Amino acid sequence: MNKLIIAIDGLAATGKSTQAKRLSKAFGFIYVDTGAMYRAVTLFGFNQFPKGSVDLSLLNDSLDQILIHFEEVEGKQQTFLNGKNVTKAIRAAEVNKWVSQVASQEVVRTFLTKQQQLMGADRGVVMDGRDIGTVVFPDAQCKFFLTATPEVRAKRRYQEQLEAGLSGTFDEVLNNVKTRDKQDQTRTIAPLQKAQDAIEIDVSNLSIDEVFEILHTAVLKKHESIHR
Ligand code: C5P
Repeated sequence: MNKLIIAIDGLAATGKSTQAKRLSKAFGFIYVDTGAMYRAVTLFGFNQFPKGSVDLSLLNDSLDQILIHFEEVEGKQQTFLNGKNVTKAIRAAEVNKWVSQVASQEVVRTFLTKQQQLMGADRGVVMDGRDIGTVVFPDAQCKFFLTATPEVRAKRRYQEQLEAGLSGTFDEVLNNVKTRDKQDQTRTIAPLQKAQDAIEIDVSNLSIDEVFEILHTAVLKKHESIHR
């Protein structure tokens, strides 16, 4: 398989990262979870201003103190913030609540977009997020946009939270995915929207395997058409 950039964007909790991980394994590409990067910046903001909130201007002035990297630990990709494993901490309810506000800041987006472009430069990569096919890699060869009803998405995310031992009720999860989508879709910089040339898939009534099959087949087809 030659190098390709595969961009998976879409609404919150549509299973983008599950699919991105599987595709990266199937094709031997690297996987970049850009949502985890926005979450790590948000967590840094919390630690910096420990009053149950984030001071956005203080955070914006401190971005040069933030180092995010990914590492495989026992076969699973983990997120590190300044050398500390924050994989679980970035899924906490307060990060869910703040992350879209942090992500709407222009300086934060410029800071992370540059890093994402470097991570994907010159190699096969599967990247998931909100603006990968529109802003980070507008020339990506494969673009997907995943959607599903809020209830289906909240159910899935709530189950994941229970399994990970994180707190929160179903209604809180449902409200959070709806609020984040709205904030992500209506922000002025790099809003969440489908790239014109992205394949849109409503995953509401599809299993993880069925979605994977659709994505996998589409990537192979694209690869064949490019390298014929
Ligand atoms: O993908 P995940 O749900 O973990 O992303 C968390 C939040 O990070 C999103 O709701 C969005 O506000 C922000 N994000 C973004 N651009 C990306 C990835 C995530 O704005 N490329």
